[in-house]
Amino acid sequence: MTDTNLQASGLMPIPGHIDPLPVARDVTPRADGRIDLIGLPKKDIAALFAQAGLDARQAKLRSKQVFHWLYHRGVTDFAAMTDIAKPMRPWLAERFVIGRPEIIEAQHSTDGTRKWLLRTADGHDFEMVFIPDADRGTLCVSSQVGCTLNCRFCHTGTMRLVRNLTVGEIVGQVMLARDALGEWPNGSASTSSRARTGTAGIVEGTFNQDHGDPGFRRDDEAESDDDEDNPTYTADGRLLTNIVMMGMGEPLYNFDNVRDALKLVMDGDGLALSRRRITLSTSGVVPLMARCGEEIGVNLAVSLHAVTKEVRDEIVPINRKYGIEELLQACADYPRASNARRITFEYVMLKDRNDSDDDARELVRLIRKYKLPAKVNLIPFNPWPGAPYECSEPERIRRFSEIVFEAGISAPVRTPRGRDIDAACGQLKTAAERRSRAELERLWAEKQAALG
Ligand code: SAH
Ligand code: SF4
Repeated sequence: MTDTNLQASGLMPIPGHIDPLPVARDVTPRADGRIDLIGLPKKDIAALFAQAGLDARQAKLRSKQVFHWLYHRGVTDFAAMTDIAKPMRPWLAERFVIGRPEIIEAQHSTDGTRKWLLRTADGHDFEMVFIPDADRGTLCVSSQVGCTLNCRFCHTGTMRLVRNLTVGEIVGQVMLARDALGEWPNGSASTSSRARTGTAGIVEGTFNQDHGDPGFRRDDEAESDDDEDNPTYTADGRLLTNIVMMGMGEPLYNFDNVRDALKLVMDGDGLALSRRRITLSTSGVVPLMARCGEEIGVNLAVSLHAVTKEVRDEIVPINRKYGIEELLQACADYPRASNARRITFEYVMLKDRNDSDDDARELVRLIRKYKLPAKVNLIPFNPWPGAPYECSEPERIRRFSEIVFEAGISAPVRTPRGRDIDAACGQLKTAAERRSRAELERLWAEKQAALG
């Protein structure tokens, strides 16, 4: 499509793509003309209130109160905002809404993992996953509907990118999860009790790491104890304690919205989750990694998956644009990385492709060469229909883990969670975008040709 065509269609390319695809820039405006407040920072809420007729002082005061109700208390109705003057509540409701993505389907795995199929106001489907654990509860958040990057082992990569999720749709996932888990302080408009006992019971009985490395888990906990940002937020009594940007999409290709959404998630007057409990995973969008550290400040995970150019070019095609050495240098330069805040390298175990002893040794060599404060997460490949790879044998994974571990680098094997409901890493994909195997092969070949 030419630039003029793109403009005429209201679509835009996302800069920096290996293979730019047109995507809708914004959501379709609401038919009733009201504005959704979810996704807006306090100052924008104040500006909207001022535009709607409040004087500057009132607008600022009201925006503070409303922000607190939205993000700290989780109300979904202006009528519930009891410290706002009664006549003002319908005034707000006429002009504004408190949105949530629509829940199309909610699934519960036998291991306690939960997956929600969500729909945007303009009809696009995406997914979020909650993974309860004995000592934490992790929400896996999507950043895009689909993904442009086509990693060959990832189901999401077989979708065409439909569009970036908005700030409201990203932070809205966290709010929906809080709704579903009943975790708003003193109850919320949508839930009143904290349904904890049942879920915790399921989790404790089922979680098991194949090659447990307790050190990996304890680090995060220790860091959050002296959390200077949000001293009141602790894991105690909470189900949702951690967020990983590891759902559908490449978060760094939706940088501004992901940053603004995570700022809302971290705001001490609202959801107040510590940045130390948030991890952003990238397939290796090198030019945006430094900004991620500086402007968001969350933990970084990098989908490395291979240690040679040949293999990484094949399985993570963005490698053709930003190679392994460049990627590792960006990791070495990542702001705030330290031994206490290590970078996680994700490594999917693909049978006979990236799982040899030599691969493990090369991984160690590279981590040492760049002096990276690193830990390695070994992810057994999660299959999906038509996937061109198989998972490595358990014995192979164990040996790989041992080699890395013996070099002094933490290398736990992740236990797949929620496989029975297709909620595990790389299994997310919405039905609307299903493609035939032949079509997938053709798309993939086109991408390879385009990359040269
Ligand atoms: N786009 C980002 C984040 C989402 S994917 C990224 O690529 O990092 C989250 C993790 O799941 C990534 O490490 C990804 O490579 C991995 N993954 C994708 N498909 C997988 C599969 N089928 N089995 C196991 N892990 C997979
Ligand atoms: Fe996109 Fe990540 Fe899947 Fe690659 S692994 S296709 S970057 S979601």
